[in-house]
This record gives sequence, C-alpha cells and structure tokens, in this order.
Amino acid sequence: MAMLISGKELAEKEKEKVAREVETLRGEGIRVKLVVIIVGDDPASKTYVAGKAKDCAACGIESEVVRFPQQTTEEELLEKVRACNEDPTVNGLLVQLPLPKHICEKNVINAIAPEKDVDGFTPVNVGRMVIGESCFLPCTPAGCIEMLQSTGLPIDGKKAVVIGRSNIVGKPMALLLCAQNATVTLCHSHTRDLADICRQADILVAAVGRESFVTADMVKEGAVVIDVGINRGADGKLHGDVDFSAVSEKAAFITPVPGGVGLMTRAMLMRNTLEAAKRQSGRFE
Ligand code: NDP
Repeated sequence: MAMLISGKELAEKEKEKVAREVETLRGEGIRVKLVVIIVGDDPASKTYVAGKAKDCAACGIESEVVRFPQQTTEEELLEKVRACNEDPTVNGLLVQLPLPKHICEKNVINAIAPEKDVDGFTPVNVGRMVIGESCFLPCTPAGCIEMLQSTGLPIDGKKAVVIGRSNIVGKPMALLLCAQNATVTLCHSHTRDLADICRQADILVAAVGRESFVTADMVKEGAVVIDVGINRGADGKLHGDVDFSAVSEKAAFITPVPGGVGLMTRAMLMRNTLEAAKRQSGRFE
C-alpha cells in the first residue's frame, strides 16, 4: 500500500517558514505584497484567487485582488499590469488564467515585469529556467519536486515519465526533473504505447486533465506517483488524473486529490512572493 505524500502537511510547513521570514523582513521595515488580477466571473478562478488571498493572510503577506469585469479590454488590463510593474510597493504580480477569449494571454503575461512574475510564466523566467539560471520557478512543477524530495528517495538517475506537455505544468515539470538528473520522457496525446512507457517509470507525473486516466496497469510496482490533475467528477467532487484506490495498491508513494499538488502549488506562490520581495530589497539568496 502506497504512502501518502501529504500536500497539506508540506504546504503548512512551507507557509510557516515563509511567515517567519516575512516577519523578520517586517522587523527590518520591509513589507511583502502580492497583487492578483482576475478578469470575469469564472467560478474556479474565483476559488483559486480566494485561496491565494487566504495563504497570503496566513503568511503575513499583504494581498490585493484587482477584479475586472468580463468585458474589460486587453489595453485596460495591460495598463493595470504596467502600473503594478511600476509600483514599488508591489513585489509579486499575477494574472489569473484563463482570461476571456478576446484578451491575448500571451500579451498580458509578456507585459509582467520578470522580477515580479511570481508565477514564473514570462518568457524571461522560462528561458532562465531552461538554462538553469536563477529565476521564479512555476509553482506547480516546483511543488511537485518538493513533494518528490519529501519522500527521501533520490530523483538522481531515476526514470521519470511526465504525461502532459502544457507550458505551465508538463514542460517545466520535465525540465525540473531533468535538472535533478532524472532521465525524463515527456508524453502527450500523440505518444504511442503510453502504458508501456508509463510502466517503466520510477517517477510518474500525471498532468492530463482527465479523471482516472492513469490506471493501475500503467504503474510500475514501487513507483512514486504525482497526480497534478484537478477534475470535477460527475459526483460533483474533485478527482485527480490517477485512479487513486487501484494505483495506491502498487505505488510506493502517491499524492492525493484534493490535498496534494494543489496545496503545494499555492505554498510555492508564497515562497516566490517572499523571494521577489527579498530580491527587490537587495537580499539575494
Ligand atoms: P492542458 O490541457 O494544457 O494539457 C493537457 C496535456 O495532456 C496536453 O499536453 C495533452 O497533450 C495531454 N493529453 C491529453 N490527452 C492525452 C492522452 N490521451 N494521452 C496523453 N496525453 C494526453 O492541461 P494543464 O497542463 O493545464 O493541466 C492538466 C491538469 O492539471 C488539469 O486537470 C488541471 O486542472 C490540473 N492543474 C492542476 C494544478 C494544481 O495546482 N494541482 C495547476 C495546473 C493545472 P497535447 O499537448 O498533445 O494536446
């Protein structure tokens, strides 16, 4: 039976660590602030934004949620982004995705100042990540690496398989695993013999967006399985991409949904925001 990698526990620890550092900075007269911009009424986005504000409060980070109506123009949004870039009291800035269809997400992301891009989505941060330079790592894959490391098992030399190649999860996940010296296979909807490939994985990361996509026959005995998926099931509950109960019988470690990667993603945002404030105040790590 697999051991559970608890996103809840790890995220709490991370947030406590961030809170202590935020407190120290405050003692030195430095405040830490995150601005989150949301456009429209997407219910999932609203939930995510509320979660971010709650985490900020728990960490002593000041947060401001800027709400724009659905019909906001791209230029209006860009103006706000530029204003936040210029505002020295704002350390971290993120625009909640997805944006309404009439707004080009690429243009908006590209407008965020790289030094405030705590989501790690701008081309500058992505480029730095690719070449292994200091940058803001995207929160979800960074959280997955933390979860893998929490098992105490080495990543170095292991065979890792990532299912999904999105810019925010799959691709950076593969890069971060490679940076940890895993041998990485990145799979997608055109991959042939997916189950065979998955069965070779010591580390299997699922970021597909399909409930119970990873079945027990796709998992090697003793593998570490990281489930990034968040899917609203027919039962109205949240489910991952992994058939949790069956895969738990084979894996050595597994992340639950909910209570797994999602919580660590949020904790990594707090870490990045603290890091942004430290860098902007001249405190480099
Ligand atoms: P995308 O839809 O952007 O990407 C899905 C990926 O899965 C694509 O690369 C696609 O391949 C691949 N895929 C789809 N069908 C198959 C298939 N049959 N076989 C193999 N690969 C397939 O999703 P995201 O990466 O944004 O998100 C993935 C999941 O993770 C979602 O459930 C999302 O809600 C969740 N998520 C969770 C987060 C968290 O904090 N826990 C954060 C972000 C996302 P192709 O490229 O060929 O189309």
